[in-house]
Amino acid sequence: MFVDVALPLPLFQTFTYRVDGTPRHPLVAGSRVVVPLRNKRAIGICLGPAEPPPDGVKTKAIVDVPDPEAALGEPLLALGRWISEYYVVPLGMVLRSMLPAALTGAAVPVPAQKTRRCAEIARELPSLLERDQLFARAKKQREVYELLEAIGGRATVEHLVEQLGVTPGVITALAEKGIIRIVNEVVARDPFASRPAGVAPALTPTPAQRQAIDALRAGAPGDVFLLHGITGSGKTLVYIELLRHVVGTLGKSAIVLVPEIALTPQTVDRFRAVFGDRIAVLHSALSDGERLDEWRALQRGEKRIAVGARSAIFAPLSDLGAIVVDEEHESSYKQGESPRYHAREAAIMRAKLEGAVTVLGSATPSLESWVNAEAGKYLLLELPERTAGGRLPTVAVVDLRRGAPPEKHDTAAASFARHPTDTRIADATRSPARAILSDALDGAIRQTLDRHEQTILLLNRRGYASFIICDDCGDVATCPFCSITLTYHRAPERLVCHYCQHQEPVRERCARCHGKTLHQRGLGTQQVERILAERFPEARIARMDVDTTSGKWAHATILDRVGRGEVDILLGTQMIAKGLDFPNVTLVGVVDADVGINLPDFRASERCFQLLSQVAGRAGRGPKGGQVLIQTRLPTHHAVRCAVTHDYHAFVKEELAGRKEPAYPPNVRVTNLIFSGITERATADLADSAVEWFRGVLAEHPVRVSVLGPAPCPVERIKNRWRWHLVLKSAHPNDMTRITRYFAEHFVVPNSAQLRVAIDRDPVALL
Ligand code: ADP
Ligand code: ZN
Repeated sequence: MFVDVALPLPLFQTFTYRVDGTPRHPLVAGSRVVVPLRNKRAIGICLGPAEPPPDGVKTKAIVDVPDPEAALGEPLLALGRWISEYYVVPLGMVLRSMLPAALTGAAVPVPAQKTRRCAEIARELPSLLERDQLFARAKKQREVYELLEAIGGRATVEHLVEQLGVTPGVITALAEKGIIRIVNEVVARDPFASRPAGVAPALTPTPAQRQAIDALRAGAPGDVFLLHGITGSGKTLVYIELLRHVVGTLGKSAIVLVPEIALTPQTVDRFRAVFGDRIAVLHSALSDGERLDEWRALQRGEKRIAVGARSAIFAPLSDLGAIVVDEEHESSYKQGESPRYHAREAAIMRAKLEGAVTVLGSATPSLESWVNAEAGKYLLLELPERTAGGRLPTVAVVDLRRGAPPEKHDTAAASFARHPTDTRIADATRSPARAILSDALDGAIRQTLDRHEQTILLLNRRGYASFIICDDCGDVATCPFCSITLTYHRAPERLVCHYCQHQEPVRERCARCHGKTLHQRGLGTQQVERILAERFPEARIARMDVDTTSGKWAHATILDRVGRGEVDILLGTQMIAKGLDFPNVTLVGVVDADVGINLPDFRASERCFQLLSQVAGRAGRGPKGGQVLIQTRLPTHHAVRCAVTHDYHAFVKEELAGRKEPAYPPNVRVTNLIFSGITERATADLADSAVEWFRGVLAEHPVRVSVLGPAPCPVERIKNRWRWHLVLKSAHPNDMTRITRYFAEHFVVPNSAQLRVAIDRDPVALL
């Protein structure tokens, strides 16, 4: 007998292996197999029976079938095939990335497992007379025995010791008499178990929520819903009520995708409070062993809901009823390395394959999803109001341009002026500290502190200063490996590259002219933190960015402190913009809205609008209301204007028009081909030859795809590799698939200068 096997190799082919004798476990499509590969062993996935090879072609035999059950069921295999086709990635590479890391190594892993000591009744003592005799002078032993008997014959030693106040010696003595035995029980390693889940408040859905819930519950298999609900409109309750129906009533399973679990412990806690231990939380900080435990619990059906980031879409659940994609617009749903799949698109495909319902939720849906909803491909559900009588915060702009006149009061600003504060929109250029905190923002923070309410401040740039410049020659310190300026960090003091993490000591002299007057420019969170500490010495300030959240539970720890009222000002990068629900936050300040708005990327404005809308949505979630101040030098930019007026529809209209000429998604489909290598010449030449190749193919075949480029990538060099790119555009997905696949299989990359090609279909950015 022969089987077809997918191996994690960069080749668009599968492999035929022979099966000698009867394997240790059943061999079916989706089973992991250990096979010989070039004198080594590799783990592959069986795809099913294969034709015997032609005479004379030698085959090797599989070595082992290590698992009793298939690692990937039929629907997940089908999903893998779709990802492989659409994103143009070899199937074996896709299937490998769908499995937990502990199952992909060549050595069959025996993950270290935590155990705990349990006591178990070994000999029943039905006769009370016998008990009296046995325990005549051992009252404590009798208590232990009878407690065990009362709770089903088994308990942890720890539990017995705690409940009865006995010493462990009592338990040992019982074991020595042969009445009980001590066994080691495997503990499932669930780090969320140590976090209290809290109690789910019994909320009655609002009429708008009710409508959405009913529509979702009535959804047909494969239906996709776009839940457009403003910030604070109660989307989480809608998800929970859907899952109650799907998991509780129908007995099916469900997946909940969140952009990044560490950033949304509150959301995860709400699900846990309702569904308790039926949930597997697939956290990025899980060890390989912990992840495997959760994965197995899902596969065995012990847990019926998987909550996690991107890769949770591959959770091995059977009988899937619903998939929720929360904050569906987030770019973290796109994997940045091969396979470069988008978890939202994979979710929709998986739901179609398994007859489940998909809900995409967001206050600021991606343009792609919005257009699909308008075209009727997705069913639109709207939650246009905040729950429980909450109002959206008033938003005002602080114009940071030198000499800017006081901003004219538009409607939002006018209501802001009526807010019980007397701050005014101010010119922010009087002193350096003022350029960072305008009078308006400074005053608003002061009043918020005085009222014992909380402030969230956003600056989407970490470090202290974003670059160091020489006053004599104008040279800017850049990373030796990337075409990126080095960011100045103060604690600990050093220059850091935010692309490759290269670090170096702070320079005393300019590297080019040896001049001594180096200046820091551009603002980072560390500097804002210092200015806040000076301006508001009594305030308790917490900073949340990549530098303060490296520990496993760092995010949750900071956010829990905010929730308990132990923080007055929470300052951070974009990681503070999402999902947080703190009713005592009445002020949100955006220190510099313009970070990233001018990036040479077609989605720069969209990302800016989403970030501003999301962070603004953190204010005024309680009865006290809230206000938002946005400091900017681009007050007329549509991303800023529409965030101020909470006008998603106006933003979409303007942004879609801006992507017509030249056409960008969602008006057209795009694939980015990135060529990289260690010399610039070879990289540019490779990109040139690829364009020639495409011209040749397009001249001979009727494929409706256009080719743009080549050009250096906006970030020309990363980690010592030069980068050039080509952009393919097409309105016809199938043509895009065909030509990209043909390119991947036929375009020859020379074996020099470490040249590589990456294919990024539907990229989230072209940087
Ligand atoms: P979103 O995710 O849409 O921004 P959340 O789901 O975080 O909003 O809900 C915002 C707040 O409203 C939460 O504190 C939540 O407990 C509360 N909430 C949601 N639904 C209701 C309801 N029907 N009645 C009262 N409060 C609600
Ligand atoms: Zn670098």
